[in-house]
Amino acid sequence: MIMKPIRFSQRLDLLPPYLFNELDRMKVEAVRQGVEVIDFGIGDPDRPTPGFIVEELCRQAALGQNHRYPSYKGMASFRQAVAEYYSRRGVTGVDPDTEVLTLIGSKEGIAHLPLALIDPSDVVLVPDPGYPVYLSSTLFAGGTPYFLPLEEQNDFLPDLEAIPEQVRRKAKLLFLNYPNNPTTACANRDFFEQVCAFAEENRVIVCHDASYLDITFNGYKAPSLLECERARQVGLEIISLSKNYNMTGWRVAAAVGNRDVIAALLKIKMNIDSGVFDPIQKAGVAAMVRGGRPDPDTMAAYAERRIMLLDCLDQLGWSYYRTDATFYIWVRTPAGQTSLDFTKQVLQQYGLLVTPGVGFGKKAEGYIRFSLTLPTDRVAEAVKRLLGR
Ligand SMILES: *Cc1c(COP(=O)(O)O)cnc(C)c1O
Repeated sequence: MIMKPIRFSQRLDLLPPYLFNELDRMKVEAVRQGVEVIDFGIGDPDRPTPGFIVEELCRQAALGQNHRYPSYKGMASFRQAVAEYYSRRGVTGVDPDTEVLTLIGSKEGIAHLPLALIDPSDVVLVPDPGYPVYLSSTLFAGGTPYFLPLEEQNDFLPDLEAIPEQVRRKAKLLFLNYPNNPTTACANRDFFEQVCAFAEENRVIVCHDASYLDITFNGYKAPSLLECERARQVGLEIISLSKNYNMTGWRVAAAVGNRDVIAALLKIKMNIDSGVFDPIQKAGVAAMVRGGRPDPDTMAAYAERRIMLLDCLDQLGWSYYRTDATFYIWVRTPAGQTSLDFTKQVLQQYGLLVTPGVGFGKKAEGYIRFSLTLPTDRVAEAVKRLLGR
């Protein structure tokens, strides 16, 4: 019997088309031709989670009392550790009971937050370029995205003043992410103060994705949104263990901020998921309390790779955005070449796979992203190839 085709939801049609088909094809082709491709594409730490965190997981996983459903809002000890993380950063008085919520990775929180805030006709302010989930979660919630261009001449900060009055009136939620993926740009305290003022004035909730807050170099310390006095009224910040402790596969993060927004997000989550496995949260406590800062060996490896690649780019005369944060390098494409063209050229000529900017939004045309999350000897090999040695 021939079945009628499945009619999928219109929601799925809202998603932007997948831009990388052509690139995937090229990669497969290069590998088929015997090119040993060095992958600077994915932002996923190559090094393992530090041993003491894994050991804590194993210890906790052996205990039967940890095998039942976790609590919806997260273990008290985990939420406490998050509050202490902030207090070490100088943000005191975070109430672990009402102002902290455990997430199944920051992606999960970002994906669900609009369901708690957005009605059809509400506008969400979405940075372009940006992490793609800000847009997809907006669309899934029936919201209308309004793109905030991040321009290099403005250090990849959005110009909030430029948002038209009629957009502000409908805006309910603003996504931000500093230190930024993919541009590597950083925000200072002044900018966050402006954000809070804007949010208060326009009754917009701010969601600051702080995935790279601690991935900084040369003594630079990135500010948290919550360092602003008003931030816990106007929004929340999402911190993740993924990048700090090489825990991307573990799926654990936290939302911290406005208690009403936290409660609303919890309401959504209670109807979708059942929390994070307790041993993972306990291991997260070990990471935050005993580890504190990101794994020093990993940070040293990133620093070494950064210097190797940046030196090489300097020698080649390739220009890039200078920053002291994230494990990415944001490289400008040569004049007249699109990011996809340049990506293809770099793959064909050197066997290096990078991410074309256009994958993060229209405004990232003109850039490619290198991720430093690959073994140091691979970076060394890439440098050799680039310098023709
Ligand atoms: C990696 C990344 C995330 C996802 O982090 P998880 O906590 O692993 O879900 C979110 N936002 C940005 C900007 C990222 O780069």
